[in-house]
Amino acid sequence: MSTLLDVRDLHVEFRTRDGVAKAVNGVSYTVHAGETLAVLGESGSGKSVTAQAIMGILDSPPGRVTGGEILFRGTDLLTMGRPERRRVRGDRMAMIFQDALSALNPVLTVGRQLAEMFTVHRGMSRKDALGKAVELMERVRIPAARQRAGDYPHQFSGGMRQRIMIAMAMALGPELIIADEPTTALDVTVQAQVMELLAELQRELRMGLILITHDLGVVADVADTIAVMYAGRIVEHAPVHEIYRRPAHPYTKGLLESIPRLDRKGRELYAIKGLPPSLLAVPSGCAFHPRCPLARPVCATDEPPLYQVGPGRGSACHFWKECLGER
Ligand code: SF4
Ligand code: MG
Repeated sequence: MSTLLDVRDLHVEFRTRDGVAKAVNGVSYTVHAGETLAVLGESGSGKSVTAQAIMGILDSPPGRVTGGEILFRGTDLLTMGRPERRRVRGDRMAMIFQDALSALNPVLTVGRQLAEMFTVHRGMSRKDALGKAVELMERVRIPAARQRAGDYPHQFSGGMRQRIMIAMAMALGPELIIADEPTTALDVTVQAQVMELLAELQRELRMGLILITHDLGVVADVADTIAVMYAGRIVEHAPVHEIYRRPAHPYTKGLLESIPRLDRKGRELYAIKGLPPSLLAVPSGCAFHPRCPLARPVCATDEPPLYQVGPGRGSACHFWKECLGER
C-alpha cells in the first residue's frame, strides 16, 4: 500500500488569555491509500485540531503549528505556498463535518451547491454540472435525486443532509477524506447507514479516510487501524481487531467498556472516572494518571514513551504488559 499521508511529530499550540495550550503534542500517524484510520478520543484530546492542521484550516491565530511535518504524497503541506495548499485542499483532500446544516449554504439548493463544485473547480457548464450533481446524489442514495436537487438543505433530514455532505466531499475525487464525527448528531440507526455508505464509497474509490470519533462503537466495522488520543498525544495505536480483542492501554480499555449499546441513546463516556485534563495544565508524567485504575507512583513522574508492544502496535503505558494480561 502506498503512503498517502504521513504526520510526523506534529505540535499545535493555542494562545489563550490564560496561557499556551498544547493541543497537539507530538502526534505521528500514517494513512495509506485505501485505508481507514479511526482517531479516537474525548473532546479536547486533539483529534480535531490535528485534522484541522492537516486540512490547513486551523484558526490562526490563536492556533499555530509549532513543529513537525505533514507529508501528503511525500510533500510537506506545512512548507507549501498558500495557493498550492488551497489547490491540494480543494482537489485532493476533503473534510466532512459533524454539523451538515451549518456546513451547507442555507440559501442555495443542494443541487446548485453540488453543481458549483464542478463549475468552479472543473470549469463545467451549469447544465453538465447539474447533471453531475444529480449523479452524485444518486450515488449517495438520495431518493428521487433529480427532484430533490431543487430543495434547500433544511428540507432534508439529518441523515440525508449528511449524505449530501459526503457527496460534496467526494465530488472532485479526493485521495483523502477526513470525517470529523460525521454521524454523532444522528440517530443510532441512521448513524449506521451513513457510516456504511461512507465505508462503501471509501472502498470503491480507494480513498484514504480519517474517521474522527469519540465512539469506539461506530468504527469497529469500518476502520483498519485505530489511534487513540489523550491530552494531545497518541496513547495507543493498533490494527482494529487487536484493539478490540486486547487493548494495551488502560484508557482504551475504559473506552471499550463505555461503548454505548443500541438500546441506549446516550453517547457520552460513563465508564472512565473523572474528566480529561485542561490543556493548560496537563498532569505530569502520564497525563492519564489521575484517572487511571492501574496508576502507580512512577506514572505521576515519568512520561511513558510510545512502547512498541507488537507488530504495528504502540502503547504509551508503562504497564502495557499488565494491561494486555501478560504480566
Ligand atoms: Fe495508567 Fe500509569 Fe499506564 Fe498511565 S502509565 S496509563 S497512569 S498505568
Ligand atoms: Mg471535535
